[in-house]
Amino acid sequence: MQIEWIESQFFHTDKIANEMIIIHHTGSNNGRINSLQGTISWFKPDVWRSTRQVSAQYIIARDLRPIIQMVKDEHTAWHAGRSSWEINGVLRENLNNRSIGIELQGDGQLFRYSDFQYDALIWLVKQKMEQFNIPIELVRGHEEITPRKPDPGQLFDWDRLKQGLASVTAPGSDIPAFDDSLDTDGDGIIYLDETDDVKLPSGKDRTIVESILDFFAGLFK
Ligand SMILES: [Zn+2]
Repeated sequence: MQIEWIESQFFHTDKIANEMIIIHHTGSNNGRINSLQGTISWFKPDVWRSTRQVSAQYIIARDLRPIIQMVKDEHTAWHAGRSSWEINGVLRENLNNRSIGIELQGDGQLFRYSDFQYDALIWLVKQKMEQFNIPIELVRGHEEITPRKPDPGQLFDWDRLKQGLASVTAPGSDIPAFDDSLDTDGDGIIYLDETDDVKLPSGKDRTIVESILDFFAGLFK
């Protein structure tokens, strides 16, 4: 997975810690999902804006392309506004300086997110959870920390994220054991032509790990 850096003007250097990951959507207008370019220029306007200054660390587009990073993890982005959540037994407010914000291009009240977005999100969230020692309980939606907010919406599949994180965390746990009765020539590799019963993983039978490996392979084609 690649990350493309496009620096936002909207950030502070007052980050306390990366204790939470907050998931957002970029929204839609009249049934049309806001464009990626529109969101980038909202976070990085050509002309300085003194009001409605917003930003997030990351944006994940609907289509396969590098994840965009606009604010450094160690800096405070402006995505959580008035918000509150209990972190390690203490109620914290205004969570920007305790969190990493990830925007999904789309509107989870109207549209499902793309397979690529789940794969990229799982990859990114796993990396940040490990890097900053963030537990899954502190990966939350904007709608949870600020109840008047709608994102990432009811069409965001939290189970898919959690299952993806679990299978990435323990690679191999959901991959079937090698069945040597299928390895007719005994070379330790099952070839497609050894038996018609062997199917390469495809479609929804694939694990997240395999999807991610495919994605990496695609990047280096
Ligand atoms: Zn939001």
